[in-house]
Amino acid sequence: MRITAIKEVSVPLEGNVANALVSFAEHDVSLVALETDVIRNGRPVTGYAFDSIGRYAQGGILRDRMIPRLKAASAESLLDASGERFDAAKVLQTVLRNEKPGGHGDRAAAAGAIELAVWDLNAKLADEPAHITIARHFGRQGKREGVNVYAAGGYYYPDESTQRLADEFRGYRELGFDAFKMKIGGATLAQDIARIEAALKVAGEGQRLAVDANGRFDLDTALAYAKAIAPYDLRWYEEIGDPLDYDLNRQVAEVYEGRIATGENLFSVPDVLNLIRFGGMRKGQDIFQMDAGLAYGLTEYARMIDAMERHGFDRAQAFPHGGHLINLHIAVGLELGGCEAYPGVFQPFGGYPPGCGVGGGLVRPTEAAGFGLEEKEALRPWLARLNH
Ligand code: MG
Repeated sequence: MRITAIKEVSVPLEGNVANALVSFAEHDVSLVALETDVIRNGRPVTGYAFDSIGRYAQGGILRDRMIPRLKAASAESLLDASGERFDAAKVLQTVLRNEKPGGHGDRAAAAGAIELAVWDLNAKLADEPAHITIARHFGRQGKREGVNVYAAGGYYYPDESTQRLADEFRGYRELGFDAFKMKIGGATLAQDIARIEAALKVAGEGQRLAVDANGRFDLDTALAYAKAIAPYDLRWYEEIGDPLDYDLNRQVAEVYEGRIATGENLFSVPDVLNLIRFGGMRKGQDIFQMDAGLAYGLTEYARMIDAMERHGFDRAQAFPHGGHLINLHIAVGLELGGCEAYPGVFQPFGGYPPGCGVGGGLVRPTEAAGFGLEEKEALRPWLARLNH
């Protein structure tokens, strides 16, 4: 069994939204296909994945470095001990050949797209949903009943208004969501408080509304917002300062009693260990949001979860960033706290196909083999492009 073709394409994100720091109007995502010599129903079994949302496509790194390394590897060197499945850790090691440690940046997402495609591929070879493959591999039961989910949105739009925000969340509520997340830090504190109050009219209570500053605040601003939002008893206060400013996180955690969430821009186990050692994260309380697609894939992500547990944190404190099917399968398979959903933004990757059945605060994957990306209608034309 061998990989016969490795393809990638950069897919632009639809929409024109912004958080406190970046506009997503120019963002794109790398979609990767690993085609094999295993033929089912007249077609080669192919694994697909992408490198999550929120950074950029990695076509250059994939084409210039990682795909040539994978093509040069012998077929046997990429298989697990049974010889019947591909070994994601070996594939990751292969695409990272001759890369120095540290300085993770964009290559972590490039490697993540390829590594995750191995999980889609292995699940398809076993003809089962990826969360089952993942749970079995890591010795877990999996949360087959579904995982906690919230609708992430509340971005800043050119036609910004509190009415628009409330209407957006009402739309998500009609889709079955009962918890929400919105952006802060892209307006004045007074304007953001007005936005929070408008959102709370839909969310109903503070524990159903999280706020995300996307790493924008300096310490003084972080503390001013912490004081201003404390009375609302919000679900969590996310990515408050620069993702690598662990000391800022610690200082906010010392005075802010509610949950803090961070980690979506940490791409390696050593980064997560630094957050644990120096960031003041509280056991049983604060939320870790690392995202496999941005961080070398599931192999590295599972090691991050191990690191959390070794230091007394619970995997229920892990809510991966990136509201899409791949992270849904990972959250179910690894029994994480839950995942986000982007029902209205970041198409064609965001959100879940109708079969996933959002309701009662939960979302479940369908029975489709692999990650089920083929069930996402907006993605199908892009998957088809990789089949030529
Ligand atoms: Mg965030």
